[in-house]
Amino acid sequence: MTLDINKIRKDFPILQEKVHGKDLVYFDNAATTQKPTQVIDEMVKYYYKYNSNIHRGVHYLSNKSTDGNENARKIVQNFINAEHLHEIIFTRGTTESVNLVANSFADRYIGEGDEVIVSELEHHSNIVPWQLVCEKKKAVLKVLPFNDNGELLVDQLDDLITDRTKIVAVNHISNSLGTINPIQKIIDIAHARGVKVLVDAAQSVQHLKIDVQEWDVDFLVFSGHKLYGPTGIGVLYGKEDLLNEMPPWQGGGEMIKEVRFEGTTYNELPFKFEAGTPNYIDAIGLGAAIEYVENIGLDNIDAYEQELLAYATEKLSSIDGLKIYGTAEHKTSVISFLVDGIHFYDMGMLLDQMGIAVRTGTHCTEPIMQHFGIDGTVRASFSFYNTKEEIDALYNGILKVCKMFV
Ligand code: PLP
Repeated sequence: MTLDINKIRKDFPILQEKVHGKDLVYFDNAATTQKPTQVIDEMVKYYYKYNSNIHRGVHYLSNKSTDGNENARKIVQNFINAEHLHEIIFTRGTTESVNLVANSFADRYIGEGDEVIVSELEHHSNIVPWQLVCEKKKAVLKVLPFNDNGELLVDQLDDLITDRTKIVAVNHISNSLGTINPIQKIIDIAHARGVKVLVDAAQSVQHLKIDVQEWDVDFLVFSGHKLYGPTGIGVLYGKEDLLNEMPPWQGGGEMIKEVRFEGTTYNELPFKFEAGTPNYIDAIGLGAAIEYVENIGLDNIDAYEQELLAYATEKLSSIDGLKIYGTAEHKTSVISFLVDGIHFYDMGMLLDQMGIAVRTGTHCTEPIMQHFGIDGTVRASFSFYNTKEEIDALYNGILKVCKMFV
């Protein structure tokens, strides 16, 4: 099926905006995606008609909001094919999901001298929580490296694992380089050694179909805002038996069964991990976003974005002095680049004057920058609502900037 991009673009009001008097070209989708009217309207509808705190209510509005929140949980469950509804925990985003797992899993399973493995390709949010926990528990953090194409050296994983290794935490897709990591292989290697795996899917749920049961992954985390949904909502999927074994991370309302000064008992899953008033309106927005994406179809999205990636890679590679960082065989629609003699901030700021939004800097992946011996890159990341004409605009924009620097 070919996508009707003009029709799709009409769903995203912000894409009709002008920036500095120019048509907006939004290529910062790896940082956050824009929101379709279908998501915005659903959230506004709840604020206008049904808003009320959830779960504890006996009245109409509370029941409506509760149904909306729990229906969103069901949508997420189907989206990633989780076996049980209660394996879906709502969080504030990927970062909070990783922190939840790192702390709670460590409290239950990690002791002095144990090991955690992350990769050199990780976003800071899948490094620092593990560093904090390892420091607290006197555990050891080990790193799986990548090669100069930006591909993980997965063959080294088995050697890195010892009988003290408890968990491997790795992303599915690198936000900086676009590399698609061989997750099934990583899970198989880890599981063969009895090691659990957390997959950071912040950059993949919006591009590729994920089936947590097929992967047999232990934990999966992602954010709503990179999936065409609102900010402030994210997901932690965890296997039922693990989540049941793990202690609560935060205390408060919702997560308790009975509170006594002599000792409190905790609620069942998923509520044990959802302390405080849930972010139900954003959960409802996330549900609407997933339905929107599923209507277009992830296979169609992937096919079209791969077309954009191939087109952009060819065009940008033809520019004198432009180097692309991240040349993995399996990549998603992200191009990180530098042009000889032009600082990434200058490139980003001058492109912005032309209405083109790209991200500049380290993209919260300083170890990747250190690997390449650079301070940062310019990153253009494409979505299904982008067009080849917009890539032409980027190409011409880069050429214009290059001319300014000769
Ligand atoms: N992991 C990856 C791969 C990301 O790209 C990001 C955000 O850019 C995160 C984690 C953190 O996501 P959030 O800031 O939504 O918690």
